[in-house]
Amino acid sequence: MDIAEQLVNGILDTLPLQIAVIDETSSIIYVNQAWRAFGLFYGLELNTDWFGIAYLDICRANEDTNLPLLINGIENVLSGKSGHFSMDYLCHTPTKQPTWLTLNLQPMQTTLADNKLFLLSLTNITHHKQVEDRISALTHTDPLTGLANRRRLEQFMRDEWSRAIRHQSSLSVMMIDADHFKQLNDSMGHAAGDECLRKLAGILKRYSNRPGDMAARYGGEEFVLILGQTTQQEAIKIAERIRQKVMELDIRFAGHRLMTISIGIASLGMHQSTSHKEQHARNQSLNFSEDGDLLIEQADKALYVAKKQGRNRVEVYDKHHRLTVPLTF
Ligand code: GH3
Ligand code: MG
Ligand code: MG
Repeated sequence: MDIAEQLVNGILDTLPLQIAVIDETSSIIYVNQAWRAFGLFYGLELNTDWFGIAYLDICRANEDTNLPLLINGIENVLSGKSGHFSMDYLCHTPTKQPTWLTLNLQPMQTTLADNKLFLLSLTNITHHKQVEDRISALTHTDPLTGLANRRRLEQFMRDEWSRAIRHQSSLSVMMIDADHFKQLNDSMGHAAGDECLRKLAGILKRYSNRPGDMAARYGGEEFVLILGQTTQQEAIKIAERIRQKVMELDIRFAGHRLMTISIGIASLGMHQSTSHKEQHARNQSLNFSEDGDLLIEQADKALYVAKKQGRNRVEVYDKHHRLTVPLTF
Protein backbone atom coordinates (compact mmCIF):
# COMPACT_ATOMS: atom_id res chain seq x y z
CA MET A 1 0.00 0.00 0.00
CA ASP A 2 1.54 3.33 -0.96
CA ILE A 3 1.32 6.42 1.20
CA ALA A 4 -1.60 7.95 -0.70
CA GLU A 5 -3.56 4.72 -0.40
CA GLN A 6 -2.82 4.47 3.34
CA LEU A 7 -3.90 8.05 3.77
CA VAL A 8 -7.21 7.51 1.95
CA ASN A 9 -7.92 4.36 3.97
CA GLY A 10 -7.04 6.21 7.16
CA ILE A 11 -9.44 9.02 6.28
CA LEU A 12 -12.28 6.64 5.37
CA ASP A 13 -11.83 4.66 8.58
CA THR A 14 -11.70 7.79 10.73
CA LEU A 15 -14.88 9.36 9.30
CA PRO A 16 -17.92 8.99 11.58
CA LEU A 17 -20.00 8.46 8.43
CA GLN A 18 -20.86 4.83 7.60
CA ILE A 19 -19.64 4.27 4.06
CA ALA A 20 -20.05 1.36 1.66
CA VAL A 21 -19.31 1.02 -2.03
CA ILE A 22 -21.72 -1.17 -3.97
CA ASP A 23 -21.97 -2.23 -7.60
CA GLU A 24 -24.94 -2.26 -10.00
CA THR A 25 -26.28 -5.46 -8.40
CA SER A 26 -26.00 -3.78 -4.97
CA SER A 27 -23.17 -6.16 -3.99
CA ILE A 28 -20.94 -4.66 -1.34
CA ILE A 29 -17.37 -4.02 -2.51
CA TYR A 30 -16.09 -1.99 0.41
CA VAL A 31 -17.17 -0.86 3.90
CA ASN A 32 -15.35 1.53 6.23
CA GLN A 33 -14.71 1.20 9.97
CA ALA A 34 -17.82 3.16 11.01
CA TRP A 35 -19.96 0.78 8.95
CA ARG A 36 -18.38 -2.23 10.67
CA ALA A 37 -18.82 -0.60 14.08
CA PHE A 38 -22.53 -0.04 13.45
CA GLY A 39 -22.82 -3.71 12.52
CA LEU A 40 -21.76 -4.46 16.10
CA PHE A 41 -25.07 -3.06 17.34
CA TYR A 42 -26.82 -5.76 15.33
CA GLY A 43 -24.69 -8.41 17.04
CA LEU A 44 -22.40 -8.72 14.03
CA GLU A 45 -18.67 -9.26 14.46
CA LEU A 46 -16.35 -6.35 13.76
CA ASN A 47 -14.59 -8.49 11.17
CA THR A 48 -17.80 -9.61 9.45
CA ASP A 49 -17.08 -10.16 5.79
CA TRP A 50 -19.45 -7.77 4.06
CA PHE A 51 -17.87 -8.31 0.69
CA GLY A 52 -20.30 -9.75 -1.91
CA ILE A 53 -23.44 -9.36 0.23
CA ALA A 54 -26.25 -7.64 -1.71
CA TYR A 55 -27.21 -4.44 0.10
CA LEU A 56 -30.77 -4.68 -1.24
CA ASP A 57 -31.06 -8.13 0.42
CA ILE A 58 -29.99 -6.58 3.73
CA CYS A 59 -32.63 -3.86 3.28
CA ARG A 60 -35.37 -6.35 2.39
CA ALA A 61 -34.55 -8.54 5.38
CA ASN A 62 -34.93 -5.69 7.87
CA GLU A 63 -38.31 -4.25 8.91
CA ASP A 64 -36.86 -0.74 9.21
CA THR A 65 -35.56 -0.68 5.65
CA ASN A 66 -37.97 -2.95 3.80
CA LEU A 67 -39.85 0.14 2.63
CA PRO A 68 -41.01 0.48 -1.01
CA LEU A 69 -39.80 4.08 -1.10
CA LEU A 70 -36.31 3.13 0.06
CA ILE A 71 -35.98 -0.02 -2.08
CA ASN A 72 -37.27 1.77 -5.21
CA GLY A 73 -35.01 4.75 -4.54
CA ILE A 74 -31.94 2.52 -4.40
CA GLU A 75 -33.00 0.50 -7.46
CA ASN A 76 -33.55 3.68 -9.47
CA VAL A 77 -30.01 4.92 -8.81
CA LEU A 78 -28.47 1.49 -9.54
CA SER A 79 -30.34 1.25 -12.85
CA GLY A 80 -29.38 4.79 -13.83
CA LYS A 81 -32.98 6.09 -13.70
CA SER A 82 -32.00 8.68 -11.14
CA GLY A 83 -28.72 10.31 -10.30
CA HIS A 84 -29.10 10.46 -6.51
CA PHE A 85 -31.23 9.11 -3.69
CA SER A 86 -31.53 10.26 -0.11
CA MET A 87 -33.93 9.26 2.62
CA ASP A 88 -34.25 9.48 6.41
CA TYR A 89 -35.41 6.39 8.25
CA LEU A 90 -35.71 5.13 11.79
CA CYS A 91 -33.48 2.20 12.61
CA HIS A 92 -34.13 -0.11 15.60
CA THR A 93 -30.97 -1.96 16.50
CA PRO A 94 -31.50 -4.77 19.02
CA THR A 95 -29.07 -3.29 21.52
CA LYS A 96 -29.46 0.47 21.22
CA GLN A 97 -31.98 3.29 21.35
CA PRO A 98 -33.79 3.88 18.04
CA THR A 99 -31.47 5.72 15.70
CA TRP A 100 -32.40 8.04 12.84
CA LEU A 101 -30.25 7.60 9.76
CA THR A 102 -29.98 9.46 6.48
CA LEU A 103 -29.19 7.16 3.59
CA ASN A 104 -27.42 8.72 0.61
CA LEU A 105 -26.68 6.90 -2.61
CA GLN A 106 -25.01 8.22 -5.74
CA PRO A 107 -22.89 6.93 -8.63
CA MET A 108 -19.11 7.24 -8.25
CA GLN A 109 -16.78 8.72 -10.85
CA THR A 110 -14.67 5.54 -10.94
CA THR A 111 -15.43 2.06 -12.23
CA LEU A 112 -13.87 -1.24 -11.23
CA ALA A 113 -13.36 -3.88 -13.92
CA ASP A 114 -16.08 -2.17 -15.98
CA ASN A 115 -18.47 -2.31 -13.03
CA LYS A 116 -20.25 0.92 -12.23
CA LEU A 117 -19.75 1.79 -8.57
CA PHE A 118 -22.01 3.62 -6.15
CA LEU A 119 -21.22 5.36 -2.91
CA LEU A 120 -23.62 4.57 -0.09
CA SER A 121 -23.43 6.49 3.15
CA LEU A 122 -25.45 6.40 6.35
CA THR A 123 -25.33 9.45 8.63
CA ASN A 124 -26.64 9.33 12.19
CA ILE A 125 -29.10 12.24 12.51
CA THR A 126 -30.78 11.16 15.78
CA HIS A 127 -29.62 14.26 17.61
CA HIS A 128 -30.99 16.58 14.88
CA LYS A 129 -34.30 14.73 14.88
CA GLN A 130 -34.61 15.12 18.65
CA VAL A 131 -33.97 18.86 18.41
CA GLU A 132 -36.44 19.06 15.50
CA ASP A 133 -39.11 17.24 17.56
CA ARG A 134 -38.57 19.57 20.52
CA ILE A 135 -38.83 22.67 18.32
CA SER A 136 -41.90 21.29 16.60
CA ALA A 137 -43.57 20.57 19.96
CA LEU A 138 -42.76 24.13 21.10
CA THR A 139 -44.11 25.76 17.97
CA HIS A 140 -47.35 23.79 18.25
CA THR A 141 -48.05 24.19 21.95
CA ASP A 142 -49.57 27.01 23.93
CA PRO A 143 -47.09 27.70 26.74
CA LEU A 144 -49.68 28.78 29.35
CA THR A 145 -51.97 25.76 29.15
CA GLY A 146 -49.94 23.10 27.36
CA LEU A 147 -52.79 22.66 24.88
CA ALA A 148 -52.30 22.77 21.12
CA ASN A 149 -51.97 26.31 19.81
CA ARG A 150 -53.94 27.83 16.97
CA ARG A 151 -51.42 26.85 14.31
CA ARG A 152 -51.57 23.18 15.31
CA LEU A 153 -55.35 23.35 15.59
CA GLU A 154 -55.77 24.68 12.06
CA GLN A 155 -53.63 21.87 10.63
CA PHE A 156 -55.51 19.26 12.64
CA MET A 157 -58.85 20.73 11.64
CA ARG A 158 -58.03 20.49 7.94
CA ASP A 159 -56.95 16.86 8.36
CA GLU A 160 -60.06 15.92 10.33
CA TRP A 161 -62.30 17.77 7.90
CA SER A 162 -60.90 15.82 4.93
CA ARG A 163 -61.07 12.58 6.90
CA ALA A 164 -64.71 13.21 7.80
CA ILE A 165 -65.57 13.94 4.15
CA ARG A 166 -63.64 10.88 2.95
CA HIS A 167 -65.17 8.49 5.47
CA GLN A 168 -68.51 10.30 5.53
CA SER A 169 -68.33 10.53 9.28
CA SER A 170 -69.53 13.20 11.64
CA LEU A 171 -67.30 15.90 13.08
CA SER A 172 -68.12 18.51 15.70
CA VAL A 173 -66.36 21.68 16.70
CA MET A 174 -66.87 23.72 19.86
CA MET A 175 -65.77 27.29 20.32
CA ILE A 176 -65.49 27.99 24.04
CA ASP A 177 -65.09 31.42 25.60
CA ALA A 178 -64.79 32.34 29.28
CA ASP A 179 -67.54 34.73 30.34
CA HIS A 180 -66.74 38.18 31.74
CA PHE A 181 -63.09 37.25 31.85
CA LYS A 182 -61.92 40.83 31.74
CA GLN A 183 -63.83 41.42 34.95
CA LEU A 184 -62.35 38.24 36.47
CA ASN A 185 -58.87 39.50 35.66
CA ASP A 186 -59.63 42.92 37.05
CA SER A 187 -60.94 41.51 40.29
CA MET A 188 -58.57 38.57 40.88
CA GLY A 189 -55.43 39.76 39.10
CA HIS A 190 -53.81 38.54 35.90
CA ALA A 191 -51.86 35.66 37.56
CA ALA A 192 -55.05 34.24 39.08
CA GLY A 193 -56.69 34.70 35.68
CA ASP A 194 -53.92 32.61 34.14
CA GLU A 195 -54.55 29.88 36.72
CA CYS A 196 -58.26 29.87 35.80
CA LEU A 197 -57.34 29.41 32.13
CA ARG A 198 -55.12 26.46 33.09
CA LYS A 199 -57.98 24.87 35.04
CA LEU A 200 -60.35 25.38 32.12
CA ALA A 201 -57.73 23.85 29.79
CA GLY A 202 -57.47 20.87 32.17
CA ILE A 203 -61.19 20.20 31.79
CA LEU A 204 -61.03 20.49 27.99
CA LYS A 205 -58.07 18.12 27.90
CA ARG A 206 -60.10 15.46 29.68
CA TYR A 207 -62.77 15.68 26.98
CA SER A 208 -60.38 15.27 24.06
CA ASN A 209 -58.87 11.84 24.53
CA ARG A 210 -59.55 10.07 21.24
CA PRO A 211 -57.25 10.29 18.21
CA GLY A 212 -59.74 12.46 16.27
CA ASP A 213 -60.08 14.92 19.16
CA MET A 214 -58.13 18.02 19.96
CA ALA A 215 -58.37 20.76 22.56
CA ALA A 216 -56.61 23.97 21.61
CA ARG A 217 -56.18 27.48 22.89
CA TYR A 218 -57.49 29.66 20.10
CA GLY A 219 -56.36 32.91 21.68
CA GLY A 220 -56.80 34.80 24.97
CA GLU A 221 -59.68 33.19 26.88
CA GLU A 222 -60.99 31.35 23.82
CA PHE A 223 -60.60 27.64 23.25
CA VAL A 224 -61.60 25.19 20.53
CA LEU A 225 -62.49 21.56 20.96
CA ILE A 226 -62.56 19.34 17.90
CA LEU A 227 -64.40 16.07 18.30
CA GLY A 228 -63.94 13.56 15.49
CA GLN A 229 -66.77 11.12 14.73
CA THR A 230 -69.05 13.03 17.03
CA THR A 231 -72.57 14.02 16.02
CA GLN A 232 -74.13 17.28 16.97
CA GLN A 233 -76.37 15.58 19.55
CA GLU A 234 -73.33 14.00 21.22
CA ALA A 235 -71.44 17.28 21.07
CA ILE A 236 -74.28 19.11 22.82
CA LYS A 237 -74.19 16.58 25.68
CA ILE A 238 -70.42 16.91 26.02
CA ALA A 239 -70.63 20.72 25.90
CA GLU A 240 -73.22 20.72 28.68
CA ARG A 241 -70.96 18.51 30.80
CA ILE A 242 -68.00 20.83 30.22
CA ARG A 243 -70.14 23.85 31.11
CA GLN A 244 -71.15 22.10 34.36
CA LYS A 245 -67.55 21.13 35.18
CA VAL A 246 -66.45 24.74 34.86
CA MET A 247 -69.20 25.83 37.25
CA GLU A 248 -68.11 23.09 39.65
CA LEU A 249 -64.66 24.71 39.81
CA ASP A 250 -66.57 27.25 41.90
CA ILE A 251 -64.30 30.15 41.00
CA ARG A 252 -65.87 33.35 42.34
CA PHE A 253 -64.91 36.89 41.37
CA ALA A 254 -66.17 40.44 41.63
CA GLY A 255 -68.17 39.75 44.78
CA HIS A 256 -69.65 36.34 44.18
CA ARG A 257 -69.99 36.02 40.40
CA LEU A 258 -69.30 32.42 39.32
CA MET A 259 -66.79 31.77 36.53
CA THR A 260 -68.70 30.32 33.58
CA ILE A 261 -68.17 29.66 29.89
CA SER A 262 -70.24 29.97 26.74
CA ILE A 263 -70.00 27.39 23.98
CA GLY A 264 -70.86 27.50 20.27
CA ILE A 265 -71.14 24.24 18.36
CA ALA A 266 -71.03 23.45 14.65
CA SER A 267 -71.14 19.94 13.24
CA LEU A 268 -70.70 18.15 10.00
CA GLY A 269 -72.61 14.93 9.96
CA MET A 270 -74.85 12.31 8.46
CA HIS A 271 -78.54 12.91 8.20
CA GLN A 272 -80.52 9.90 9.38
CA SER A 273 -83.27 10.14 6.76
CA THR A 274 -81.12 10.47 3.62
CA SER A 275 -79.75 7.56 1.63
CA HIS A 276 -76.08 6.72 1.59
CA LYS A 277 -75.86 7.92 -2.02
CA GLU A 278 -77.45 11.25 -1.20
CA GLN A 279 -75.16 11.69 1.78
CA HIS A 280 -72.17 10.98 -0.39
CA ALA A 281 -73.26 13.52 -3.03
CA ARG A 282 -73.89 16.07 -0.29
CA ASN A 283 -70.51 15.53 1.29
CA GLN A 284 -68.77 15.73 -2.08
CA SER A 285 -70.31 19.17 -2.50
CA LEU A 286 -68.82 20.08 0.88
CA ASN A 287 -65.40 19.49 -0.54
CA PHE A 288 -65.87 22.69 -2.51
CA SER A 289 -63.17 24.55 -0.69
CA GLU A 290 -61.39 21.87 1.35
CA ASP A 291 -61.95 24.47 3.98
CA GLY A 292 -61.58 23.00 7.45
CA ASP A 293 -61.96 26.48 8.92
CA LEU A 294 -65.62 26.56 7.95
CA LEU A 295 -66.80 24.72 11.06
CA ILE A 296 -64.68 26.93 13.29
CA GLU A 297 -66.28 30.02 11.76
CA GLN A 298 -69.73 28.53 12.27
CA ALA A 299 -68.98 27.52 15.88
CA ASP A 300 -67.82 31.08 16.45
CA LYS A 301 -71.12 32.42 15.14
CA ALA A 302 -72.99 30.08 17.49
CA LEU A 303 -70.79 31.29 20.36
CA TYR A 304 -71.73 34.87 19.53
CA VAL A 305 -75.38 33.88 19.85
CA ALA A 306 -74.67 32.16 23.20
CA LYS A 307 -73.11 35.39 24.47
CA LYS A 308 -76.05 37.46 23.22
CA GLN A 309 -78.51 35.06 24.83
CA GLY A 310 -77.00 35.74 28.24
CA ARG A 311 -73.78 33.60 28.52
CA ASN A 312 -73.17 30.38 30.50
CA ARG A 313 -74.94 28.44 27.76
CA VAL A 314 -74.46 26.17 24.78
CA GLU A 315 -75.70 27.21 21.33
CA VAL A 316 -75.72 25.34 18.06
CA TYR A 317 -75.01 26.96 14.70
CA ASP A 318 -78.02 25.77 12.67
CA LYS A 319 -80.62 26.95 15.14
CA HIS A 320 -79.93 30.55 14.33
CA HIS A 321 -78.45 30.61 10.86
CA ARG A 322 -79.78 29.44 7.54
CA LEU A 323 -77.15 27.60 5.56
CA THR A 324 -76.34 28.51 2.00
CA VAL A 325 -74.73 25.13 1.24
CA PRO A 326 -76.68 21.92 1.74
CA LEU A 327 -74.94 20.85 4.93
CA THR A 328 -76.60 18.31 7.17
CA PHE A 329 -76.42 19.17 10.82
P1 GH3 B 1 -67.37 37.98 27.33
O1 GH3 B 1 -68.22 37.35 28.36
O2 GH3 B 1 -68.17 38.77 26.36
O3 GH3 B 1 -66.49 37.01 26.65
O4 GH3 B 1 -66.45 39.06 28.08
P2 GH3 B 1 -64.92 38.98 28.35
O5 GH3 B 1 -64.57 39.99 29.36
O6 GH3 B 1 -64.51 37.59 28.65
O7 GH3 B 1 -64.33 39.32 26.94
P3 GH3 B 1 -63.30 40.40 26.45
O8 GH3 B 1 -62.95 40.02 25.07
O9 GH3 B 1 -63.83 41.78 26.70
O10 GH3 B 1 -62.06 40.21 27.40
C1 GH3 B 1 -61.26 39.10 27.37
C2 GH3 B 1 -60.31 39.17 28.51
O11 GH3 B 1 -59.47 38.03 28.60
C3 GH3 B 1 -59.41 40.36 28.39
C4 GH3 B 1 -58.04 39.84 28.70
O12 GH3 B 1 -57.44 40.58 29.72
C5 GH3 B 1 -58.27 38.43 29.16
N1 GH3 B 1 -57.19 37.56 28.75
C6 GH3 B 1 -56.85 37.23 27.48
N2 GH3 B 1 -55.75 36.42 27.48
C7 GH3 B 1 -55.41 36.24 28.78
C8 GH3 B 1 -54.37 35.52 29.43
O13 GH3 B 1 -53.51 34.87 28.80
N3 GH3 B 1 -54.32 35.55 30.77
C9 GH3 B 1 -55.23 36.25 31.49
N4 GH3 B 1 -55.14 36.23 32.81
N5 GH3 B 1 -56.20 36.95 30.90
C10 GH3 B 1 -56.31 36.96 29.57
MG1 MG C 1 -64.77 36.08 27.16
MG1 MG D 1 -63.17 36.26 23.91
